[in-house]
Amino acid sequence: MKKDFLLNKWSLFIQQILPATCVYCRSGHSSNFLLCETCLSTLELAPAHCRQCNRPLSALSDDICGYCLNHQTYVDKLVCPFRYAGGIEHLIKALKFHKKAYIAHNLAELFLHHITEQQLSPTPSCIVPVPIHWRRRLSRGFNQTEQLCSALANMLAIDSLSLVKRQHHRPPQSLLSGKVRHTNVVNNFRYHSSHVPEHVAIVDDVVTTGSTVNEIARVLKAAGVLQVDVWAMCMTSPNTLDRK
Ligand SMILES: [Zn+2]
Ligand SMILES: [Zn+2]
Repeated sequence: MKKDFLLNKWSLFIQQILPATCVYCRSGHSSNFLLCETCLSTLELAPAHCRQCNRPLSALSDDICGYCLNHQTYVDKLVCPFRYAGGIEHLIKALKFHKKAYIAHNLAELFLHHITEQQLSPTPSCIVPVPIHWRRRLSRGFNQTEQLCSALANMLAIDSLSLVKRQHHRPPQSLLSGKVRHTNVVNNFRYHSSHVPEHVAIVDDVVTTGSTVNEIARVLKAAGVLQVDVWAMCMTSPNTLDRK
């Protein structure tokens, strides 16, 4: 554990002192991020979406979609700056497969850079990573969402707490169609702390239908949490799942 910590500190230090090469297009640059100025300026922002679940809105004047009007949802506010594409997709995959904390740190900086203070206000007292099952952690050795959550917590000087645990080892949501995603996550999380904060934000890397974060929000509210927001780095379109 200590070795990993020192290696990550060392990677962060090297990243800061060496001439930078964009991790996406490989050109040299002088931005403070892992992406060059051109890749940063062409990042795709998330399109207008429901404030609770990420589904597209039928009218621009709405801020809540037809699905959330007709179903019980537990997320109070979804904050999500980017579409899952280009440089952001590259960084998220790099974090997942190369397991470097400095990538999580850079993603967290990008998130905060693109989010206005109003969107994070009022700031929750703690943030909670989407958990992975211990068997998946054993095989992968890393939960990228925990890394992202911990980087955000450090920057905002708030706590990152693992308040929920994943109970069953089920297939990843990314392999499932839209309809099955909901049943795959139901009753798969349990509250795992004696501490119950009033206001929490769940941190995730990519949201699609929002089924996972909605189920975690349900468990948090059942435990007594009053407000549950979601901070997701980016979104994919739920519409693409209907064709699976
Ligand atoms: Zn670039
Ligand atoms: Zn919705």
